[in-house]
Amino acid sequence: MKVAKFGGTSLADAGQILKICAIVKADPDRRIIVVSAPGKRNPADTKVTDLLIACAEAMLAHGAAEQELGVVVQRFAEIQKEIGLPASVTRELEDDLRQRLAGGRAHHGKYLDSLKAAGEDHCAKLVAAAFRQQGLDAHYVSPCDAGLLLSSEFGNARVLPESYARLAALRHRPGVTIFPGFFGCTAAGEVATFPRGGSDITGAILAAAVKADVYENFTDVDSVYACDPRIVPEAPAITLLTYREMRELAYAGFSVFHDEAIVPVVQAHVPICIKNTNRPAAPGTLISPERPYAAGAVVGVASADGFSTIFVSKYLMNREVGFGRRLLQILEEEHLPYEHVPSGIDSTSVILRRKLFTPVKAARVVARIRSELTPDDIEIEHGLALLMIVGEGMRYTVGLAAKATRALADAGVNIEMLNQGASEISIMFGVKEADRKPAVRALYRAFFSPEDQGAELADGLQDAGGAVRTKRPESSAVESAAGTLEERA
Ligand code: ASP
Repeated sequence: MKVAKFGGTSLADAGQILKICAIVKADPDRRIIVVSAPGKRNPADTKVTDLLIACAEAMLAHGAAEQELGVVVQRFAEIQKEIGLPASVTRELEDDLRQRLAGGRAHHGKYLDSLKAAGEDHCAKLVAAAFRQQGLDAHYVSPCDAGLLLSSEFGNARVLPESYARLAALRHRPGVTIFPGFFGCTAAGEVATFPRGGSDITGAILAAAVKADVYENFTDVDSVYACDPRIVPEAPAITLLTYREMRELAYAGFSVFHDEAIVPVVQAHVPICIKNTNRPAAPGTLISPERPYAAGAVVGVASADGFSTIFVSKYLMNREVGFGRRLLQILEEEHLPYEHVPSGIDSTSVILRRKLFTPVKAARVVARIRSELTPDDIEIEHGLALLMIVGEGMRYTVGLAAKATRALADAGVNIEMLNQGASEISIMFGVKEADRKPAVRALYRAFFSPEDQGAELADGLQDAGGAVRTKRPESSAVESAAGTLEERA
C-alpha cells in the first residue's frame, strides 16, 4: 500500500487534478491520497492558502472580506467548472467559507487556522468528486473524524501520539481515500494547522500510521538535485538518499521536502519517494534508511541564508563552571531556539535563526548576558549563511574538510564558522550571505565536477574535528553590544 501526497502545484488547476487522477489510476497500491490546497499556476500567481490568509486578515482588520472571499471562490469555481463538476460544489464551498469567516475572532491564531485549513479541506472534497467522475471509487475523509489529533499550538501544531493508532484504521477503508493535508483537530475539536508546507507532515503521519510500503511525495521537480539548480543549473539528480542525508540537506535549504515531515516515516522505516506529477515516469529520488556509498562521496551541497550569531568572549571562560548553561538558559527563557554553539577557549558563539531573533529580543538577550555573565565582549552579527556538504560516504574520510576549505579559499570566500563535530555525515560552514552562491559553486566544483573528482583528498591536513569558530565577526553587519541592534545586514 502506498500513501501519495500531492503538493499545491499538482492541484493548481483542473488539468493538474486530472493528471493526478491518471497517476492514482495507474497504480492500485496508491490507496491514500493526501492533498495540499491549490498552489500557483504560474510564478506570478497566489496560493489558495495565501488567499485564505488574506481573507482572515481582512476580516480581523476591518470586519469584512467580501472581495478577498470572491477571489477564493472564483479560484475553486474555475476548477469545478473545468472538470465539469456540479455548481453545488462551489456553493457548498462558499457557504462553508462564510461560516468560517463569521466564526469567533478573539483568538487570532485559531481564527487564522480555521480559514487556512479550508484550502486543503475543500481541495480534498473537490478531488474526491473529480476522481469519482473519472471512475475511481474515491472518498473524502475528514482529518478530525479520522482522529488526527494535534496540539493546540495554532499555526505550528504537532501531532499527538494517540493519532497513530486511530489513523491506522484508514488502511482498511475501501477504495481510494482522499485526505486533506496541513490540518487536524485539537482535543477540544478545534481546527489547528501544521507549519506552512505541512501537508508533507500529514502524508508522513498517515504513511507511518498505516505502515505504508512507501510514502510518495509528488511535487513539480523530477528529483532532489545535488545543489540548488538555480545556483548550479547542471547539478545532477540524486536518485538515492538516506534519511540522515535528507534531514541534513533539508535543514540547510533543500526545500523539496518539509524537514519535520521526515520524523514519522523515519520512525516507522517507511521509504519516501519524491516524484514529479508532470513526469511521473521519471524515477524520482528514493529516501530510505540505508544506501550503498563510496568512501569520500558527497551527495549534496545545501545552503541557507537567514542566520545570526551572538558572539561572547570572556577571559578564562573555559574554567567558569556553568557559563554555557547560563548562556543557553537566557535564550531558553527568551523562547529562542538555538541552532549551533561553536566555541573556542575564551569565547563562544550561538547561531540562531534571524527571523526569530528580532531586534527587541536581541536587545534583551544582550542586556541579560551582560549583566548575568559579565563577558569581556559581546557582539551580534546578522547576515550569516550556512552551507553544508553532506554524504554517508563522508564518515571516516580524511581530507574532505581540507578539500572544501581549499575550494572556498580559491573562490575568495571567507569562512566565518566551521562545524564538523557532531554529525559524521556532514560538514557545515558559515559564510556571509553575499558569499553563499559563490561558495556553493566552489563546493560543487570541488566535489562534483569531473576535473576535480580526481583531486587529492588527503594532503596531509586532517579534518577540522570539533566545532571551531575561525574568526570573530567584522564588517558593517556586526553590531557591538554598545551600538544599535537594528537590522542592517
Ligand atoms: N497549503 C499549505 C501551505 O501553502 C500547506 C501545504 O501546501 O503543504 O503552506
